[in-house]
Amino acid sequence: MTQLITTQPILKGNIARSINPNGLKKYIRNQIEYVESKGEYNGPKKVLVLGASSSYGLAARITTAFGGGADTIGVSFERGPKNGNMLGSAGWYNNIYFRQFAEQHGLIATNFIGDAFSDQMKDDVINYIKTSFGGKIDLLVYSLASPKRIDPANPEKIYTSVIKPIDKAVTGYNLNLEKNEMVEQTIEPANQSEIDQTIKVMGGEDWERWIDFLKKADVLVDGFKTVIFSYIGSPLTYSFYHEGTLGVAKDDDDIHAKAIQSKLESLNGKATVIVNKAVTTKASLVIPIFPVYCIALYKVMTAKGTHETPIMHQDRTFRTMLYGKQPKWDEKGRLRPDSWELESDTQAQTKDLLQKITPDNFKTDLTAYRTFKTEFMNLNGFEVNDSISDQVDFDELVQLKP
Ligand code: NAD
Repeated sequence: MTQLITTQPILKGNIARSINPNGLKKYIRNQIEYVESKGEYNGPKKVLVLGASSSYGLAARITTAFGGGADTIGVSFERGPKNGNMLGSAGWYNNIYFRQFAEQHGLIATNFIGDAFSDQMKDDVINYIKTSFGGKIDLLVYSLASPKRIDPANPEKIYTSVIKPIDKAVTGYNLNLEKNEMVEQTIEPANQSEIDQTIKVMGGEDWERWIDFLKKADVLVDGFKTVIFSYIGSPLTYSFYHEGTLGVAKDDDDIHAKAIQSKLESLNGKATVIVNKAVTTKASLVIPIFPVYCIALYKVMTAKGTHETPIMHQDRTFRTMLYGKQPKWDEKGRLRPDSWELESDTQAQTKDLLQKITPDNFKTDLTAYRTFKTEFMNLNGFEVNDSISDQVDFDELVQLKP
């Protein structure tokens, strides 16, 4: 049976309500080709990626597989097609198409769909590593971005993360991609409970819990590495990011990195916080005010030739830093591929440009609004390439399994 659906972009504010699986397939292919164009490198061989279905986690999976020749396990929380016409989430198809391409390349690519915070998921993945993945892994990438976390010890308890400043309200302009508008917004400060819950969801506690489970199960090789993705960003965004709830949660990564490092000493292992660049992702689009910083930053970085998408950024990080010879460490032992974003002339020009951006001119070539919106549409399989069909066969898509 054939049931054709015509896909078209539907946005609700900065959240996509529709996808084009044909475009997603091409978008994955493009990312693979980018990595292949850079050649092979001596990377990890057995990789577990938590948060593997989109943006930074997916990019880490693509570079380790197609640059380093790694077999990969990906864990993510995604929705498949249902009810005869609901296509599901972009990440659902990213998992499927990544697996198909990896298998064509002779690599193992296994997807687990469900809650990475749960003990059940940890047990299931460990069981799979032991029975079907060669027994051990040499890299764990922690790239979860989530609005909530169920407490593993008490399923009744659900922590919710918020993106708010601390101590003082912040007013600034935000973008609305649905309406192509720039609107002023005030974010009220978080209370203590909101701060604590955001640390529970977006901090490093679950990362350390994964390491505890994996180590106890003896599935880590000697020389094992683990990384978590962090963001510090520019003083221009400190008031609502670095000094806000998310920044405090990211500081928590550093604390857990130290604890994990000591647990890995006996394995000659290494735990690393990687501080990444600002990029266009599902998660970054819901950070208030951040999108306006991005359209200024991207304009400046594009002119300098330093703007990167998630695949460009992670591929560079993995091949030249984590598994390469030019790592850039900071005084706290974190890896800093975000140094391009923070170059002083880039920041000075971004600051100047931000002062010139208004609701009347933000869509013009003064800024990188067009690039930003296109990158966002790409995440959902739109505007990837003119020749991509907007028609999909629902019954065919339902047959695809992660
Ligand atoms: P994203 O929203 O694109 O991806 C999040 C991933 O987490 C998805 O694969 C999703 O399925 C998965 N996920 C969410 N909840 C889950 C759950 N309960 N169980 C299993 N999987 C779950 O996010 P992103 O922007 O790529 O962010 C990844 C990490 O990178 C975050 O820690 C983020 O803070 C960090 N980071 C992002 C930026 C940026 O500009 N976007 C910059 C620096 C660092």
